[in-house]
Amino acid sequence: MPIRRLPPHVVNQIAAGEVVERPASVVKELLENSLDAGATRIEVSIEGGGLEGIEVADDGGGIAAEELPLAVAPHATSKIEHAADLEQVATLGFRGEALASIASVSAFSIRSCRREETSGAIVEVEGGEVGPVRPAAGAPGTTVTVRHLFMNAPARRKFLKTTATETTRAVEVVRTAAIARPDVAFRVVVDGRVALDLPATAELSHRVAGVLGEEVGAGLLAVEGDPAALPRAWGFVGRPDLSRASSRSQRIYLNGRPIQDRLVVHALREGFRGAMPGDRHPVAVLFLDVAPGEVDVNVHPAKTEVRFRSPEAVHAAVRRAVRAALGGSDLVPSVETDLGSSSWSLRSPRSDAGRSQPILFSGASGTAATSRGAGWTTGATRSPAGFDYAAVAAAIASAVPAPPAPDELDDRPRRRRVLQVGGLFLVSGDEEGLVIVDQHALHERLMFESLRRRITEGPLERQALLAPATASASAEAIEAIESSRMLLERLGFEVEPFGPRTIAVRAVPSLLASRGVEATSFVVDLLERAAAEGPVPDEAAALEDVLAMMACKASVRAGDSLTDAEGEALLGQALESEGAASCPHGRPTMLRIPWSDLRRRFGRSS
Ligand code: ADP
Ligand code: MG
Repeated sequence: MPIRRLPPHVVNQIAAGEVVERPASVVKELLENSLDAGATRIEVSIEGGGLEGIEVADDGGGIAAEELPLAVAPHATSKIEHAADLEQVATLGFRGEALASIASVSAFSIRSCRREETSGAIVEVEGGEVGPVRPAAGAPGTTVTVRHLFMNAPARRKFLKTTATETTRAVEVVRTAAIARPDVAFRVVVDGRVALDLPATAELSHRVAGVLGEEVGAGLLAVEGDPAALPRAWGFVGRPDLSRASSRSQRIYLNGRPIQDRLVVHALREGFRGAMPGDRHPVAVLFLDVAPGEVDVNVHPAKTEVRFRSPEAVHAAVRRAVRAALGGSDLVPSVETDLGSSSWSLRSPRSDAGRSQPILFSGASGTAATSRGAGWTTGATRSPAGFDYAAVAAAIASAVPAPPAPDELDDRPRRRRVLQVGGLFLVSGDEEGLVIVDQHALHERLMFESLRRRITEGPLERQALLAPATASASAEAIEAIESSRMLLERLGFEVEPFGPRTIAVRAVPSLLASRGVEATSFVVDLLERAAAEGPVPDEAAALEDVLAMMACKASVRAGDSLTDAEGEALLGQALESEGAASCPHGRPTMLRIPWSDLRRRFGRSS
């Protein structure tokens, strides 16, 4: 075949292949145009999964009648003029190809009326053929109607999912866009029924709750970032107990533009490291403010991927902002009881709950005895079941802790009575409810925190072994000794290769030695992991992983019995340390059953 120039409608169809992947892409491009046009109300209608029809109507600035044919022409845009403008794109669109692409694979019409005018015009495009401009009535604004999407692109149709899935994706696009613009009202009608109705609001949190649901909304923590610095990360993250199995529910915006970005997803997880199990993903609505010159948005036809000039700075900003948000919050998850059934479910604590201080289970005079296994035993009015109602009632009533008795006025802020039950759990209470602690998980977290502090001061104390302990290890693990040497030394290990399949451990951290932990297998684990994961890019994260491993081996086990003093000390420390609500692996260390729930359970009206 001779070389020839393709006719424009074929060029457009090829472009459509990139820009218009599915009905949701059409919705996205049309929404962006409406927002760029300064709309304050946008109504989206989706029929038959978007394949039968998509309509987006706005009250934005509109397009002059004589410009309508240009709007649907390829590479025609009012948003940039020079290549240099690409460095500073301030609008959502700029490629000038969306309308032309969409029109080339559908039966398309665009009707528009300029804000200052009383009548508008309409242009229809059928299979790439642009019709004449005709006058049309209508309020100021623009309405784009797309029918029979992919009517002339059967290959594309084959890749689509079910109507329901395509509808969900299209609505999802509106939800995502709506979060970035709470000042704009959005309405979505699916097959004639209102599926989403979001009035304009000045409060981002209202919009987020409107989109993600009240329950998620109540479990969000504000992320502030550093308002004086760029890049800045701000918005909301879900409390750890709102975690999800995938990162799909995360919404990330770069300078107001929804994007997908693995770097940011990773940074979010890093921010949650230790607050959430490693295989879970936090819920997040995260806005990134980056200087326009620091990011390239022109790397993807759908503009959903971007390239940062300094990815490390973005990563660090996100991680730090998330950490700060988690650090300042009470993260103990509440267990709320469903009175209709006997099931108990995890709920987010009230979002307005500040950092709460567990208090003594009962009032001043130590009425609630907490010696192990004894239950609540003192007090005058005992119920037939042996339950010390008076003590519990007093505790419930004491939303404000009672003043401490004189013998409790030592230098500790307050003695916390703790009961060990089931050989594993510690039970206490605070202003908000009954607090139940997993002693191993909590001890592990505290140990981890103190190790983390301790290791910044220098290598951990080591203890030389009289005779080196040997253990077998893979060739890769033995090879990893060299690259892990710094890490091993900081942790207090002295390790050497000892033949092709054997290592020798000459010194171990005193901490592990004193707990009787068999340290050679720990070293082998560590080396095997180093070998499997390759050179670790993030030294600090690697160290945290290892400290978590150490903390786990060295802490109180389930089944270890604690004295009252030990239990009290453990809980006391927990309250003074940040992040104590989860163990270093991210599992919860404590749960709280709100007093209000217990009151309801016991049939008390107030
Ligand atoms: P881009 O958004 O990249 O400029 P499009 O093909 O999406 O390219 O749109 C072409 C042009 O049509 C836009 O630059 C804008 O001037 C005009 N336009 C499209 N949609 C609207 C709308 N809803 N309201 C006002 N103008 C619009
Ligand atoms: Mg556009």
